[in-house]
Amino acid sequence: MALILLSNDDGIGSVGLEALAEAVSPLGEVWVVAPDRERSAISQAISLNRPLRARKVKERWFTVDGTPVDCVYLALAKLLPKNPDIVLSGINLGANLGQDVFYSGTVAAAMEAAIEGIPAVALSLDVLGLEDHGQSLAQGMETAARFSYKVAERVLEKKLPRHTLLNVNVPGRVLGKPMMTKLGQRHYGKEVIERLDPRGKRYYWIGGARAEFADIEGSDCNAVFAGHISISPLRLDLSDEALRQTLEAWEF
Ligand code: MN
Repeated sequence: MALILLSNDDGIGSVGLEALAEAVSPLGEVWVVAPDRERSAISQAISLNRPLRARKVKERWFTVDGTPVDCVYLALAKLLPKNPDIVLSGINLGANLGQDVFYSGTVAAAMEAAIEGIPAVALSLDVLGLEDHGQSLAQGMETAARFSYKVAERVLEKKLPRHTLLNVNVPGRVLGKPMMTKLGQRHYGKEVIERLDPRGKRYYWIGGARAEFADIEGSDCNAVFAGHISISPLRLDLSDEALRQTLEAWEF
């Protein structure tokens, strides 16, 4: 029986995690190790300077007072009886498209598994798209959960090349077939809200603005915007061979 590890960055109480656990439970023994609160946009951070506590909430479900990657780290090193056959992260309440993968804790948890050579999938639902199409969160989650099952089943059967992972995004309303995509480009416009706190001191608030995206054929952004589930294969190797060759000619 397959051992399936789930994590996320929305925290142990997220409906996305609940839906994912329920959806993939027919595929094997599900273990959950997730942050005790929301840790979105925490990226690949690990906690090096403080103790971490894991708390068992029920059979095979643990929370950790750390980051998503802390959770996967502890799961693999301490909490699981053996290495999982697959790590699934999500289902995130919000798309992770294009450059989002560098900020996302959801994607980071899957990347951590990929670093350890374990097949991994990050799963996200475009909740803004749900609003746009008048769909409820429950409807969107049902679609995303059903597709998560399908992806997990395929990956368990076929595996993934070492040091790769899949980044899956489900649109607010599915209008066509799933598309295999590359990362697109999202622009948040660097909008920063600037206000005064109740004591008259200035503060800034990053995020909140809706992202625009570049129109790139074959990208995850285009696919999701057009109502397709997007599957982007990612690799951990960010090296650029063409630029490396260019640098050879710089004669350092
Ligand atoms: Mn999140």
